[in-house]
Amino acid sequence: MSRKTPPLLGNYRIVCPHCQKQDNYVITGDYTNLHCQECDKPFDVFLAKVRAKRGRKSGNTREYIIRYYSRAGEGEKRVTDYGGSDLGLRSGDVFYLAYKKLDEGPDILCNMNITKYVEIKKGGCFIATATCGYNSIEVKTLSLFRDNILIKNIWGQLFTSNYYRFSPYLASYIVDKNILKRIIRRTFITPISIIFSNLFSLSTRDRVLHTADDKPTIKKAE
Ligand SMILES: [Zn+2]
Repeated sequence: MSRKTPPLLGNYRIVCPHCQKQDNYVITGDYTNLHCQECDKPFDVFLAKVRAKRGRKSGNTREYIIRYYSRAGEGEKRVTDYGGSDLGLRSGDVFYLAYKKLDEGPDILCNMNITKYVEIKKGGCFIATATCGYNSIEVKTLSLFRDNILIKNIWGQLFTSNYYRFSPYLASYIVDKNILKRIIRRTFITPISIIFSNLFSLSTRDRVLHTADDKPTIKKAE
């Protein structure tokens, strides 16, 4: 089979993005809507073949830029993982992305040729994550602000959905520009997060617990 041929449809072992249980599923197109028997939740899978992969890494932030062949034609996927693991995607590899919700970006990226996958760490705010790091108090505070204030009213929901559409591009632009990151962090992200932090009175304990968080992980698919 030519490297340019899109992957065949049919049976694949797929990791559920909600509970990470792996099971056999029938893939019926570029995007397939599936339902996990284990956790009883729906998810979507995008399956294609790598044409070329570029990527950048800065700290724990890794950006995958994947040109692919799919049944609908060629295209490009950009995936930013704040866990920073490398899946070694190569030309000709079959990969899939699994989504809890399609418009919120992928949660799992799997390289089927080496049967390894990574759980994509998104961060609560792409720009805060790019400037302050995935485990920072700023990211935690802004996530609390989003979940407790913003998404509870229609204007906040509108802002959040537009923010999530555009901010990955800005985050991806600034990720390896250290001076720009420092400026954005000092003049924008940190002051805002201090204001919200007082609003939610986050304790010092929260800060300590949160920075003791996890390392990048690559998991072996069954
Ligand atoms: Zn599940």
